[in-house]
Amino acid sequence: MQPPRPTRPIFVGDQRTGVLQIGGGLDGTRSAPVSVQTMTAGYTHDVDKCVAEIHKLHSAGADVVRVAVPEKKDTEALKEILAQTSVPIVADVHFHFKRALEAVEAGVHKIRLNPGNINDREQVIEVIRACKDAKLPIRVGVNEGSIIERRDKQKRAKELGAFFSDHKHGYMLAIMIAKLEEYLDIFYEQDFHDIAISAKSMDATMVIDAYTEISKRFDHPLHLGVTHAGPKETGCIRSVVALGTLLANGIGDTIRISYANDPVYEVDDGLELLYTLGLRERKGAELIACPTCGRIQVDLFSLVQEVRAKLESDIQVPMKVAVMGCVVNGPGEAEGADVAVFAGDRRGIIYVQGEKVANVNEDEILDRLLKECLAFQDAIRAGTAKLGEKKVDIVPPDPLGELGSGWEKMAAERIRGAELTVGKSD
Ligand code: SF4
Repeated sequence: MQPPRPTRPIFVGDQRTGVLQIGGGLDGTRSAPVSVQTMTAGYTHDVDKCVAEIHKLHSAGADVVRVAVPEKKDTEALKEILAQTSVPIVADVHFHFKRALEAVEAGVHKIRLNPGNINDREQVIEVIRACKDAKLPIRVGVNEGSIIERRDKQKRAKELGAFFSDHKHGYMLAIMIAKLEEYLDIFYEQDFHDIAISAKSMDATMVIDAYTEISKRFDHPLHLGVTHAGPKETGCIRSVVALGTLLANGIGDTIRISYANDPVYEVDDGLELLYTLGLRERKGAELIACPTCGRIQVDLFSLVQEVRAKLESDIQVPMKVAVMGCVVNGPGEAEGADVAVFAGDRRGIIYVQGEKVANVNEDEILDRLLKECLAFQDAIRAGTAKLGEKKVDIVPPDPLGELGSGWEKMAAERIRGAELTVGKSD
């Protein structure tokens, strides 16, 4: 992991929502933790639904929520929406610079502009001045999909192809960077520097190349994203590969994962990515589970899903919980976990910080495991236990004995053996 690239900081929000810092490390500031953004999927002018969606995304952990404002009725709804929500709101503006001015007037916390479709110099200056007066930052988002004037594509490709010729996406990189430089010059002329930059593409390798090049040329915080990533199932891989690579290289100050699905998944997966890279302190439990194999003797997939749902709703402490299929890898994972179960033949042994606390039938595993998690959470809160501590080393149980039917079989054999001995005549 590389340390975060220092940038100018920007600040999003107000007294009511709290002020979120994005980026930092230059100008005597410290880098802020990488934040997670998402965007509502419903109509902004449908105030009640929009507010409900923003609440849902904020509760899921979104640090910033963006809303589309394609029409005047959308910017007109903003005032009411802002009064009913408590997370910084960004107005996503395309085509009509007036929507940006209206959003600033309504009290929004940040504006997103697309140089591909708001590029009249005077109009851009008007938006910059309004944001400067209101002390609002602007994200300049160049999207591969909307940056090229279609008629010009072949010509531009030819002109710019020589730059970055060693890159797979050479001409596109050149267009994006040229467009950014040209556009940001207008901002600098107005002495406006509260800027975040994004350069999204649906191609993960293009995203890695674009942000890497941009990070060398600009000192503004970077908003990372793979645009139009597709359905969650494949979009997840596309996004995590690109964003994970950049973040591991210290590039990226705020992220948005985009799926053709409920945006709550974007928040869940964005946070999980940051937790996994150690860039955010985990909230709630971390679940470790084995993939199962031919040794499995319980319905582990159902158990894992049930445990996951219960942990999500009931546990707020960042404890590690392991649900393992058998004694092969169970003890190892259980040693590193705060609460663990590893299964045998229709049963499971439960441990808390290495100490065995129960050996139960399969149908009791979920309840007992959750009971131990809740008790452990109480102990953490009371200060009588510490996360990640191990009280004793786990001694792996005998898989044929304590863990399964072997236990009953052996007991039966012992009884049968005793009966045989008793009945035996010399
Ligand atoms: S823990 Fe056991 S059941 Fe799970 S994958 Fe490993 S060997 Fe297979």
